[in-house]
Amino acid sequence: MKTIATPQSERRWQAVLARDTKADGRFVFAVNTTGIYCRPSCRVRHARRENVQFFDSPDAAEAAGFRPCKRCQPDRIHPDQQRVQRIVEACRILAASEMPLTLNAIASQVAMSPWHFHRLFKSVTGLTPKAWQQALRAGRVRSALHGGETVTRAMLDAGFQTGSSFYHQADTALGMTAQQYRRGAPDLTVDYTVAPCVLGLCLVARSARGICAVLLGEDENRLRDELAQLFPHATRLDADAAFNQQVAQVIGCIDHPQLACELPLDIRGTAFQQRVWQALRAIPPGETLSYQALAQRLGQPGASRAVASACAANRLALVIPCHRVVRSSGALAGYRWGTERKAMLLARESKSKEE
Ligand SMILES: [Zn+2]
Repeated sequence: MKTIATPQSERRWQAVLARDTKADGRFVFAVNTTGIYCRPSCRVRHARRENVQFFDSPDAAEAAGFRPCKRCQPDRIHPDQQRVQRIVEACRILAASEMPLTLNAIASQVAMSPWHFHRLFKSVTGLTPKAWQQALRAGRVRSALHGGETVTRAMLDAGFQTGSSFYHQADTALGMTAQQYRRGAPDLTVDYTVAPCVLGLCLVARSARGICAVLLGEDENRLRDELAQLFPHATRLDADAAFNQQVAQVIGCIDHPQLACELPLDIRGTAFQQRVWQALRAIPPGETLSYQALAQRLGQPGASRAVASACAANRLALVIPCHRVVRSSGALAGYRWGTERKAMLLARESKSKEE
């Protein structure tokens, strides 16, 4: 049988050659000469391209007569996914329970240690099991559970979306400057909510693509005005209660800087701004970089001013950590949301790094 090369099969083959773990779970590849199928990341020696075909799922590969590889076990659920499924299961148990459950009780129902369960639950949902139950009782999460599967889907998405793949999507999806996009997108809808955090108030807004603004301030009305300036043509709505989970995850980044925000993001900016913002996300919590060093890292040592203005144009506080860039002298320099907040954020991060 002659394999027909399509753009999709070509991308899949590249993922196989790169042994890209991010492709695991999206498809499997099968080798005609051995009758075996594998995950994209399998470590076995690669067969020749003409002997390889792709299937969307292990079931499809088996239906075509292939056997699973013993080494990468493509028919088994990936351990990461397995863990997230336990959290999904825990959410179902919590949703079905009329009575509040203790941490021990719920952890034992999904066969995990209370400590590990608590940690994983928070990283997947953005809330502690206790806060989740409070939200449930208040009926806030109930609306998100409407339809059962949607919440599962949303959590898997939140847990598995990686920063880098998002940027690729955003680049291709946007493919133009923010201004052009704004002019051409009068039908954009942005919903948002304002929540208290240790830094004052935090406004989190999302579009259909993901979180599109995180703003910090003291005054709710001024935060709303700032959002209106960023999205002048958009319809701005108060977010529904289910959105609180995502907000909690963003605010969680303040308390636990090591916990990267894995929510899908909607980043609007010029190609250069996006490169700067991407580089900012690579600065680990507890560390800082000068504008100059960042410009060098981007391969444009003369562009430290442009880098500084890209930092100032950031509209995703915390998520894109522009607060981690300082002057070469070590002076804090400006911060869109106040130098005092910048100092506080950096202090919290270096403290949590020591711990
Ligand atoms: Zn394999």
